[in-house]
Amino acid sequence: MIKHLRSAADLDAATATLILDTAGEMAALAGREVKKLPTLRGRTVVNLFYEDSTRTRISFEAAAKRLSADVINFSAKGSSVSKGESLKDTALTLQAMGADAVVIRHPASGAPHRLAQWVDGSVVNAGDGTHEHPTQALLDAYTMRSRLGRLDGLKVAIVGDVLHSRVARSNVLLLTTLGAEITVVGPPTLIPLDLAAALSPATKVSYDLDSVLPDMDVVMMLRVQTERMQDSYFPSAREYSRRYGLDIARMRKLPEHAIVMHPGPMNRGMEITPEVADSSRSTIVEQVANGVSARMAVLYLLLGGKA
Ligand code: ASP
Repeated sequence: MIKHLRSAADLDAATATLILDTAGEMAALAGREVKKLPTLRGRTVVNLFYEDSTRTRISFEAAAKRLSADVINFSAKGSSVSKGESLKDTALTLQAMGADAVVIRHPASGAPHRLAQWVDGSVVNAGDGTHEHPTQALLDAYTMRSRLGRLDGLKVAIVGDVLHSRVARSNVLLLTTLGAEITVVGPPTLIPLDLAAALSPATKVSYDLDSVLPDMDVVMMLRVQTERMQDSYFPSAREYSRRYGLDIARMRKLPEHAIVMHPGPMNRGMEITPEVADSSRSTIVEQVANGVSARMAVLYLLLGGKA
């Protein structure tokens, strides 16, 4: 088993499949009255969040607690980070406290890689800048597999603000490893020419959502990340929705069995309409539930658990 999960590229097909299978076993636990396993008793998991998060932070906390680990939640706001403490000094503090795993979210791409050089424990990337979010990709893959029965040969469209999306990057890497066929779709300004090819040469690019939909098993809508945009990438929100938003009329172009995904948080009315987000095709709430199982599997296996 690998020690750190910094990138979806850390996972080969066998390791990724082992994590997804283990997540399946963890999910069975969620249905029980007592949702706890003793497996990580006495181990310490630190959640180190330098960037806002709702789902991911709660999900990692629930995952670690369900495995009976001691959980320390650290958020940069209200800590010595706001006094200017560096990531390295924070890392050394965690090291001194004997963290077995550090889950890190950071606005700088590559922060988990640096952290892994300073701590002895396992490092899990919970989102670094615009770079990667590997556990999101795992929970997405798990959701696809449990809804559609397979990943190999699955046709997946990843739609919208690909440029700023760590979710897109990690999904392209992981899903390609697991045999899915990816098409990234969005305005040319949000899909730099060499991005898709750099991630995986097999990734297709399209600027026309309507023509792609009839062929897809999965459509994954991305949030338009205005907080990371320094330039204007499209004329207006209305224009963006008109071309790349998923509404009911567009959703009907998908095959009957296809599912609609979104990692959250959603800009309802922009990249996805409320009717689509709340429809029976949407797996958005399921993705959140599966996130806990996937993160349990990651913590369990990285910290030495057996399949
Ligand atoms: N929650 C995801 C992330 O942290 C997606 C998003 O923010 O749009 O990357």
